[in-house]
Amino acid sequence: MKRCNGSFRSISANPDGRVRDRATLIPAVAILVLTMPALTGIAAPEHLTAQEPMGMYAGPTVLRAARLLDVETGEMHRDAVIVVEDGLITAVNPASVPDAMHDMDLGDVTLLPGFIDTHTHLGGQVSATSFTDAVTRTEAYEAFNAVKYGGITLRAGFTTVRDFGGDVTVELGRAVERGDIAAPRVIPSRNSLGITGGHCDVTGFAPGIREGGPEEGIADGPWEVVEAVRYQIKHGARVIKTCATAGVLSMEGPVGAQQYTLEELTAMVEEAARHGIRVAAHAHGPEGVLAAVQAGVASIEHGSILTDEIMDLMVEKGTYLVPTTYLVDRIALDQLPPLVRAKAEEITPLARQSLQRAIDRGVPIAFGTDAAVLPHGENAGEFGIYVGMGMSELDALRTATIHAADLLDTPDRGRLAEGMLADIIAVPGNPLGDIEVTRDVRFVMQGGRVIKHVVGGRDMHSMGR
Ligand SMILES: [Zn+2]
Repeated sequence: MKRCNGSFRSISANPDGRVRDRATLIPAVAILVLTMPALTGIAAPEHLTAQEPMGMYAGPTVLRAARLLDVETGEMHRDAVIVVEDGLITAVNPASVPDAMHDMDLGDVTLLPGFIDTHTHLGGQVSATSFTDAVTRTEAYEAFNAVKYGGITLRAGFTTVRDFGGDVTVELGRAVERGDIAAPRVIPSRNSLGITGGHCDVTGFAPGIREGGPEEGIADGPWEVVEAVRYQIKHGARVIKTCATAGVLSMEGPVGAQQYTLEELTAMVEEAARHGIRVAAHAHGPEGVLAAVQAGVASIEHGSILTDEIMDLMVEKGTYLVPTTYLVDRIALDQLPPLVRAKAEEITPLARQSLQRAIDRGVPIAFGTDAAVLPHGENAGEFGIYVGMGMSELDALRTATIHAADLLDTPDRGRLAEGMLADIIAVPGNPLGDIEVTRDVRFVMQGGRVIKHVVGGRDMHSMGR
């Protein structure tokens, strides 16, 4: 795995022993930057549809609930109704409701769009072995992890993720779209791009162990960077993830040091843009953050040290900050090597201060957790940090819905409206009064399929457990 301030990257070897994918899901050596693979343009199956995978009847589903929040306007609708058909929302609060065999009254809950986490690593979970997984585990290990953690994440209400995890989460996303696996929809990066020996590389081992080139995402100089971008996109990337600076969960030096130059980052962004693809940059220190924003990346992951100049430029360019801040409360520091633990303890207080200033200054924020560094399924804990720093509950919910959908360039989700994907969740009570209800998701529908429905404390749809 790669490192983020809580990310991983993983590596895996082919049967012949050659390293194939350095930046995959294994929580290997470097955690600071978790990177993900992206889905490619391979004839991806159509969006999930309600009936086919589960053998459900054809016809509309009607969902009823005490409340429905329009995250765009902030309006809370009472006694709400949503009609779903063929995996899409076909009506919200219509004048007349169709006679449906599947008519569900969810009761005293609030309907919300399925949440989007723009920074996950579903192929792994940081642990005491994370820094050796790169040389002891295979992609098959990560693949089974991705199924398990994907299920947990989906059941926590996250119906889409942007995942930085090599081929494993490229294929996870395809399996989800086929309806084969209950997991979030995936916008994958495939392998993360990084400099030789940097945070997105596999470090800490003897020469010859897990070395990589552009195919693995390790690229130095503009032309290698361009080659690496093209190769990731060829094999499924729908976003390019890069390590603009050093990071926490890796064995290289100072956590904030710039690793890619402005010239390299600019080449990366421009090449990705030719394919209609955006760049997400892991960055902690101010020089690297500034270079990434100047190069035109779509999002800064972590952004631990932000200057006024950087924040003003992010506002001007619409660059999202993906804070990944809840992990600070949840990372298992005692399981990290001393070097890594020291870096984490150095950078995390600064990151919290920068996030507070970014919120105060109006920097665009998209929800992201670096799940793998924190336990999968606890993603919603991120909301409470934002609210604790003065963001309104509504704006916090927007980070994981309309703002995340904007960052991911997926206008078919993030709102409950006619024509949108039927990715719908429900939480008890009113999240505008208590954001922590987002940790207690009672109902999950993805593409019209009911994934989770808790009634009387028991899940009537135990799939994914
Ligand atoms: Zn990460």
